[in-house]
Amino acid sequence: MFSRLPPSVILPLFIGGLLLVGSAYLDIPVLRFPGELVANTIFGVGLSPDELRVKYWVGPLPILIVPGHDNDSWGTQFKGLKESDVNVALGYLLYDLLAKDPRFVPMINRAPDGEYALWFESYMKENKVAIEQFRTQSKVKTRYFAAQGLYDPRRLVHHNPAADNVSLSLYAINKWANDQNVPVVLHLHFNDYPRRRAGEAGEYSGFAIYVPETQLPNARASAALAETVAERLMRVVGPSNLPKEKGLTSSGVEGPIVPDQELIAVGSNGSRDGASLVIEYSYIYEPQLHDAEVRRLFMRELAHQTYLGLKTFFDSTALTREGVSATTLLPYEWPSKTFSDGMRGKDVFALQSALRIEGYYPPSGLSLASCPLSGVYGPCTTFAVKAFQNAKGLSSSGIIDESTLTLIKGVRGK
Ligand SMILES: [Zn+2]
Repeated sequence: MFSRLPPSVILPLFIGGLLLVGSAYLDIPVLRFPGELVANTIFGVGLSPDELRVKYWVGPLPILIVPGHDNDSWGTQFKGLKESDVNVALGYLLYDLLAKDPRFVPMINRAPDGEYALWFESYMKENKVAIEQFRTQSKVKTRYFAAQGLYDPRRLVHHNPAADNVSLSLYAINKWANDQNVPVVLHLHFNDYPRRRAGEAGEYSGFAIYVPETQLPNARASAALAETVAERLMRVVGPSNLPKEKGLTSSGVEGPIVPDQELIAVGSNGSRDGASLVIEYSYIYEPQLHDAEVRRLFMRELAHQTYLGLKTFFDSTALTREGVSATTLLPYEWPSKTFSDGMRGKDVFALQSALRIEGYYPPSGLSLASCPLSGVYGPCTTFAVKAFQNAKGLSSSGIIDESTLTLIKGVRGK
């Protein structure tokens, strides 16, 4: 509606709305200090990566974990595995790691049973009107800036528009995190994409981290944080090979970080002051999620690598200094038996991880997206084992025999 109105009409509406809503909106630096308009984005001066780091050193640093979706609309699902449940399980693994570190104060907005945490539920109920106003203000502000030619709306990746209640709970998260000065919000998801045969596994694989597009105020801090998290996750999952999801790193290289302007979770319409990331950890149909034992190892490792990525962003030498283990997957107790093509399960998953750490997995010329750590001993693993055996002077059978296993057992995380 507003986009069709001339700016002379929109501006009074916009300012009028601000006065009605009150002080929360007057925190927007653009309005308080018009002179700062030029400094960063049209929405105001956002948090810089160094300002974010300082908050950690002043410490401890609050981090809100938001396992995506809820028990009513659970996102995607595959063969009985609901995305929302996986998101919650991963959320608590990450929560526990952060809680053990005195430099972080983790919070999570879902209970272990997937219901909203009581504090968040009551925040949404008690502040419904204010949250709705926050949403309207954010949208009107964007339309006004766009009408003025000050903001370039770009559709980078198509998303299905969020249902009204979903959109409201995401604005609630942004508003709450802004008001409470929570500098980092992590939205945890597992991916899917529209396809004809939803009952069969799709063809794409890997992870993506959505960050706010550069015109949004929280773009710089979010992108910088995403880089260290992505760097760690790459050890376990490849960048998503879904064509529209291929992002570019700051150095222009294709990678898993995808700038986005429309996702409320990253702070669309300038609705988020601090860093916000949406992490799609892999596709819901990927085999490593569909064997309970493999899933347990995979999720524990995803949480661990996310934690290490966060830690590295704030303190680049912490991991070596504090002797934090590089992976939860090794050392691993393999049973003494032969492993070969056609086997699957956690022993295969750990084997693939060891081969990956040694640089043999995925086999050369292939990517982790086409050869994921899957727990399935197929052609990718056979080729990797052959290369490993070749390099170690063993006969390259592609089968894990006793002498190959002895060498594999010696692999440690690094
Ligand atoms: Zn999701």
